[in-house]
Amino acid sequence: MRKPNLVIIHHTAQNSCDQTLKTFTLTRTKVSAHYVICEDGTVHHMVNDYLRAQHAGLGKWGNITDVNSSSIGIEIDNDGSEKFKEEQMISLELLLAQLKRAYNIPQANFIGHADIAPTRKNDPNVNFDWKRIAEKGFGNWYGDTTNVQVPADFKPMLALKMIGYDIKDSTAAVTTFKRKFLQNEGLKPLTTNDKKVLYAAWLEAMK
Ligand SMILES: [Zn+2]
Repeated sequence: MRKPNLVIIHHTAQNSCDQTLKTFTLTRTKVSAHYVICEDGTVHHMVNDYLRAQHAGLGKWGNITDVNSSSIGIEIDNDGSEKFKEEQMISLELLLAQLKRAYNIPQANFIGHADIAPTRKNDPNVNFDWKRIAEKGFGNWYGDTTNVQVPADFKPMLALKMIGYDIKDSTAAVTTFKRKFLQNEGLKPLTTNDKKVLYAAWLEAMK
């Protein structure tokens, strides 16, 4: 038994909720998550919140190296590239509010699978609306960047690390950051505007 203090959001990368629910009940697959949210917004509670589930795999966030032991895993039914349904977002927000209240989980501790495993994972995909849920108190975002002046000595990789990312593979960390905070998929270096956003996100994370 443990008290969860972190929430990891996934997409299932499967074709249907039925397929996912079946996968999670087969012991040989050795995968499970606490919640599955189907396309129509139905929420299936699969594993007791106080028990550890196997959804995160190898990963790291800040100083946390055993993510499964401290987290709740939420799988959203999605083939890996499609948009998330409004019904799913509404159910997700209700579930996140319930978890935040029940376990007193800090706003910053609502993150995605890719955030903890940038070299292996890309979920939830680029269509996931992090800004929307951050405005409701789940996960950090950033403020207006119009008048942001990035200091000359600003170190982007250090900022990513301080936000929580494992920066061992710097390309993977940057890619993950851009997917989430700039809805920009692909291996691209940080532009001047990206650096502004990263600086603003870092300021937010350091509050
Ligand atoms: Zn995942």
